[in-house]
Amino acid sequence: MAQQLAEITTANLTTIQKLQKLIQAPSVTPDDAGTIKWLSDQLCDLGFEILLIEEVQGVKNLIAKRHFSPGPSLAFAGHVDVVPANNKGWQVAPFSGDIVDGCIVGRGAADMKGGIAAMLSATEYLCKQPQARGTFYWLITSDEEGEAEYGSKRIAQFLHEQRIVLDACLVGEPTSDKVVGDTIKNGRRGALSGRVQINGRAGHVAYPENTINAAHIAGEIVSALTQLVWWKDEPGSKTHLQVTGITVPNIVDNLVPGECEITFNIRYSHGYKSDMVQALVESLLEDWQSQLQFVWERPCEPYYTGVKEHNCFLSLTERAIHQVTGHYPTLSTSGGTSDGRFFASPQTQVIECGVRNYSIHQVNEHVSISDLAIVEDIYISVLNNFFIENESFLENL
Ligand SMILES: [Zn+2]
Repeated sequence: MAQQLAEITTANLTTIQKLQKLIQAPSVTPDDAGTIKWLSDQLCDLGFEILLIEEVQGVKNLIAKRHFSPGPSLAFAGHVDVVPANNKGWQVAPFSGDIVDGCIVGRGAADMKGGIAAMLSATEYLCKQPQARGTFYWLITSDEEGEAEYGSKRIAQFLHEQRIVLDACLVGEPTSDKVVGDTIKNGRRGALSGRVQINGRAGHVAYPENTINAAHIAGEIVSALTQLVWWKDEPGSKTHLQVTGITVPNIVDNLVPGECEITFNIRYSHGYKSDMVQALVESLLEDWQSQLQFVWERPCEPYYTGVKEHNCFLSLTERAIHQVTGHYPTLSTSGGTSDGRFFASPQTQVIECGVRNYSIHQVNEHVSISDLAIVEDIYISVLNNFFIENESFLENL
């Protein structure tokens, strides 16, 4: 009989084996499939105390803390949940973690169980170093891929209630492009969706003077929306508005439609806050005010971690990557939203750094064994720079 995940300790497991064990737990959102308990056991063995282990609406969250000494605090944040996978098109069973051509294949291998396995090994290294100073947190949820209502948002809320202020947070999401460490995210754009319902007056196409064509108004609105100028955009972080749907509930060709719905999504630069974006769009829609209803949906605030003169976590991470790969990473705020936004604040510098992301959410998702080793070295280097070497972070003691 297969050994239960919770009974396996990491003591003698390599990073590859840790990743395989994690993949073999089919933790499709929000089911953690035992991974949260397993991680908390491993962290306890490494001297961590568990501040929170909870289940809310089927979502499991974990906060673990290892206090070395007074000093700065760094959290590793991530998720154990994965998107679903059926066997169709997979070279190996999606929850096997089997190795094919030097790659560990399986759902979550890249997003982001590979990051968790590598960070667990890096954490084992750090906990053996007697000179480590500061406090190290692990923040893990089983709902990042879903609605994320009870995941990292709640973890951030708990930290806030406990008055725990993190200096830095490393999110282990897959950020790399062509080679490991070539790209890190130092922010994400905000996201916002809008739904416009246009009410015209339906009637016979031969007598348009008695109608108000909702489709024609929709055309004007789409044109105006796509011509908005985003003057507060920052270099490397541009705002894009994409119309995602234009729906006319009309199946005949002799009727002027009286109704039309437009949906759109905006990915906006960290130069904006959501209320500024909303005000801009709402003022544009005022021209058609009497003919429409409008609602905003699914707002996600942007975050951005820039260079700081002192205690700069961005520079520390860049240095760590250079130490391992010989190259400095490209900074990016592209891609979808991430849980990094829940932890970022004027006090907390958030950086996302992980394996290559080209196979995530796809059939045959995988991570190469060599990439996994490099990302583990990068994490070790970050922990080393932060908890052991970093004079700028420790100078205020
Ligand atoms: Zn992810």
